[in-house]
Formats: sequence, structure tokens, C-alpha cells
Amino acid sequence: MFDKIKSMHFPNDVYIGHDAIYNINEVIEKNLRSGTVLIITGNTTYEVAAKKVIDLINNIDYKVIKVENSTMDTLNIIKNQVKKYRIGLTIGIGGGSKIDLAKKIAYDLNVPFISVPTAPSHDGIASPRASIYDGKSFLSIEASMPSAIIADTSIMLKAPFRFAASGASDVIANITSVMDWKLANRIKGEEFSSTSSVISEYASKELIENANVIQPGLEDSIWLIMKGILASGTAMAIAGTSRPASGSEHLFAHALEILGKGTAMHGEQVAMGSLVSMYFHGDDWKMLYNVYKKIGVSTKASDYGINKNIAIKALSIAHRLRPERYTILGETDLSDNVSEKALRITKVI
Ligand SMILES: [Zn+2]
Repeated sequence: MFDKIKSMHFPNDVYIGHDAIYNINEVIEKNLRSGTVLIITGNTTYEVAAKKVIDLINNIDYKVIKVENSTMDTLNIIKNQVKKYRIGLTIGIGGGSKIDLAKKIAYDLNVPFISVPTAPSHDGIASPRASIYDGKSFLSIEASMPSAIIADTSIMLKAPFRFAASGASDVIANITSVMDWKLANRIKGEEFSSTSSVISEYASKELIENANVIQPGLEDSIWLIMKGILASGTAMAIAGTSRPASGSEHLFAHALEILGKGTAMHGEQVAMGSLVSMYFHGDDWKMLYNVYKKIGVSTKASDYGINKNIAIKALSIAHRLRPERYTILGETDLSDNVSEKALRITKVI
């Protein structure tokens, strides 16, 4: 008897490209039933994009809150601050943390959320998960899928190129996430979606094949990376989990978050993890290594001030971070020797 049932949540409207921001009014009007619009942004991102959004919106009550980091404390402070308002919609305008907070608040208040990224720095821009610091490490928690995404490439072009390269790496690393997912399907019988995995792999391959186009100062690069991020988001929406875009390479990144990530951004941590993952899968890690090199992302731990022992430990214990997520790293700690060898061969240490 067929008794399968599944729910999928997608953004209703996606505007991507040059001057996409000019669609903000229309998007707000479509998503706001009543009440006040809560805009979460930062000091820099206020100047870069939020000011523009505020100029463009008319006849709508709004409240702007500027934050710096995405932490549980900040989340609670904002919730207290907005208690006296009847919030009908949240807009996150920023790189990562502002979007994460706006997404989580929307989820808690059960109102729509609009994602306005100012840098294509990771795939959280278009996903239903929020990364929030709880005092010890960043937790990936359930939040709202954006009702709309406004990805203005002319705004994102102004962010440092490192953000874009890091976002590209996050998408490129989908290649090992999907390998892990297939493995978990074979070994653990985990539910697998071929539609989702194909989209996720497509996003990765598109960036791998066009790595030479990903360069500073090119709006085409931002477009390409954003397209990949949106495809990743779609893959996650179809799967109903982050599985198609988060495997062993992300477990390694999460372990670094706890043990000491140095100065490495999310996508850079994931890039290092994906090399080792690819090596463990017995696949072509050198191809990946060269792609990261081409887009200017270092996969050397010491370049981020991460010492060798931390990298080894992170790889050994990475599997513990999400025990329910089976990957090539298995279910027991890797020996230091095995970790060290894999990190050395892939030139991470
Ligand atoms: Zn990621």
C-alpha cells in the first residue's frame, strides 16, 4: 500500500540580479498581511542595503534593529524589544548572521520572512536552517524558509570577494555531501531523493566548470554563485533536510567551530573538509583542490591560524557532531594517524 507523504516549502518569489532590490515594495505588500515589518540588519549592511530598502518602502510601519552577531542572547534581546509591536513580517538584510536571526524570529513568531543577502557567502541565504551561537558553538536550528529572496547582484558585488569565494566553496562542496548521502542510503537505508541530489550536484558542477569566471569585481561571478546557492536551497527544500548540501565536509567545519576555526569563514572550513572527504571516498580530491585554488580559496589550515593538532582532532571527532547523519567518517573516532595522513595528503596540514 502506498502511504508516503511529504511536505516541501519553497520561496514564493525570488528576485536575483542587477537592481533586484527595487522589487522590495511589491514583495513586502505581497507577504505582509498586517502589522509592523521588522528589519534586522547591521551597521555596515545598513549603509550598503537597508537604507535603500527603507527609502523604497512606502506607507508601511517598520522597525529597524541593528545587530552584530547571531547569538541566542541577541535573539532574546530582539524578541524582548519587539514585544510591544505586532510583527507581521521580518526582513533579514546582511551577510549571514542578520539573515539567520530574522529567519529564526519569523519562525518563532510564525510570520513570513524575506531574505535580502548583501553577500553570497553561504547557502543559508536560501535555506530553512539558522546558524545561531549558543555560547559554546554555532547550532544549526530549524527556522523559516524565506517567503521571498531578493538577491541584488549590484549590492553583493560591493562585499569583499572573499565572501563570494567562500559562498562558492559552500556550493562546490555539495559534491561530497551527495556522496555521503548516497552512502548513507546504501549502508543505513536512509531516505534518498534523486531529484534533490541531482540539483545539488548540478549546482556544484556548474561552479566547478565555471571556476575561472569566479573573479573579484565581476557581477557575473555573483550571479553564478547566487544561482548555485538558490539551487542548493531548492535541493534542501525538496529533501526537507540539509542532507543534499551538508555531509562530512560540514561535520568537519562544525568541529572546527567548536575546537577553533581561526579566521576561516564557513565556506573555507567546508572547502578543507571536502578535500578530505573526497579523499576518503577514493575520489578526485586534486580536482577539487585545483578548483578552490582557481577561485582563490586557500585550503591550508595554517593560512587561517588553525594549528595542525586542532585540524587532526576536528577530523577525528567530526562524526560526533551529528550522530544521526551518517557519512564517510563513520560512527567512531578516526585515529589520529588516519586523520593526520588524510589531512597531509590533501595538503590541509
Ligand atoms: Zn554550508
